[in-house]
Amino acid sequence: MPATPLHFGFAIFLFSILPFMDPIALLIGVAIIDLEPFFYMITGIGQLHGIMHSILGMLVFFIPTTFISWSCYKLFKLERYLPKFKIYISLLSGIVGLFSHVFFDGILYPEIMFVYPFSKQAGMLYNIIPSSAVYWILVIMLFVGIAILVLRYYLKLLWKKREETNPTLLEGRINI
Ligand SMILES: [Zn+2]
Repeated sequence: MPATPLHFGFAIFLFSILPFMDPIALLIGVAIIDLEPFFYMITGIGQLHGIMHSILGMLVFFIPTTFISWSCYKLFKLERYLPKFKIYISLLSGIVGLFSHVFFDGILYPEIMFVYPFSKQAGMLYNIIPSSAVYWILVIMLFVGIAILVLRYYLKLLWKKREETNPTLLEGRINI
């Protein structure tokens, strides 16, 4: 927080280069930990970046993340558009998303207790690179990720068209 949307850059980039990942779990994973600051702003309880911005937060949220993704797959029949839902891939995607959130926030904010509950030491990752670099990395990831996804979709469409006009191409098909 307040950079929640920036975290989506990481999720979109990762899915663009690793298309077998669960994109929904990735998107939820990079954002869900910011329920903590939202909860704090609404109720005044806790902190902006408290105990959930840590390994504890990853452990608390990785199963709900997968569950929400699974629900979205079922509800919106996402298997028509996205890779098939696989529980282990979804759990892995959730963990990677959650980790990236705490990691990038850890660089941005001094109060993050990265390895909580194992240690209460705050600021372990703080400023290992300048915060402006983190913003740039996430913004670049967002645009590169979108460009790769668009290109991949376009190539898929192109292959489909070529297959329709020349079915023998099916034999030499590469999977994009
Ligand atoms: Zn955060």
